[in-house]
Amino acid sequence: MLKSAIGIDVGGTNIKVTRVSERGEVVERITGPTPPNDITGKITMILRDILKPDVIGIGVGVAGIIDKKRGVVLDSPNIPTLNNSPLKETLEREFSLPVIVENDANAYAYSEKWAGAGKDFDNFVALTLGTGLGSGAIYKGELFEGAMEAGHIVVEPNGRSCPCGSFGCLESYVSGRAIVNKAISLLEEGTQSILRECCNGNFYKITSELVYRSALDGDNLSREIFREVGRYLGMSIANLINIFSPEAIIIGGGLIGAWDFFIEELKVEVSKKSLKPLLPVKILKSIFPEEGGSIGAAGLVFERCLKAT
Ligand SMILES: [Zn+2]
Repeated sequence: MLKSAIGIDVGGTNIKVTRVSERGEVVERITGPTPPNDITGKITMILRDILKPDVIGIGVGVAGIIDKKRGVVLDSPNIPTLNNSPLKETLEREFSLPVIVENDANAYAYSEKWAGAGKDFDNFVALTLGTGLGSGAIYKGELFEGAMEAGHIVVEPNGRSCPCGSFGCLESYVSGRAIVNKAISLLEEGTQSILRECCNGNFYKITSELVYRSALDGDNLSREIFREVGRYLGMSIANLINIFSPEAIIIGGGLIGAWDFFIEELKVEVSKKSLKPLLPVKILKSIFPEEGGSIGAAGLVFERCLKAT
């Protein structure tokens, strides 16, 4: 019988849980909204529904800085209620299975190596473009286990303030949140856009999804916002190429549907700002943007738990 593992991606909006076979195929999935409190209780409830006798362990991916040894989330800016909660200990006690806790973008990077677009590469950087910007890397075929926070590469020295306390961080220019803020400020300046009618004049109803749909409808303001995303992402990717000299950069996350609206500017910046001997580097789109984090968390269970036995 094939073994399986559970992968959990705890996001600010949803908790995505998948049961994944040792071949990397998703066998079962459950998604539920992230509650404001008692996230561990909600995870426990979902696990009771999805656990099967063939499950060998549970992997949890959370945005933030993780103490992997103790399986404790030290600092999660988007899910502060999880800070300092003993996730590993609680779940291990409840289910008598090994539990690993990993940064969500590291888990996502691993999913690309295990079962995704990064299978054939030994060195690559994976970026997730969603509410925030996450990043992880595969180095010499293995997950680079340090904290890699490309979302806080400075792209404007005197730029927008970032929740991390710094200014001009990449995340403040390319994330879902940044896209919404930029749309609102352009509308407030009087720029013409179909977004005005979409939200009936209440700019605070604008979502990144709405900006994407307006871009599809040919809206200039929305398309320019994504072109700007492409320029900032491209500039940062050039920095990553100059530091890591990877074979590929893989981009996933909830905003990846807008690929066609930013990829051209992104590639122009990459070719302008990367050191020429380090090029070409493949820029690839993830094959599973929505579930990468949970698939990777399950993959790491196989990698770490089977290695340990
Ligand atoms: Zn920052």
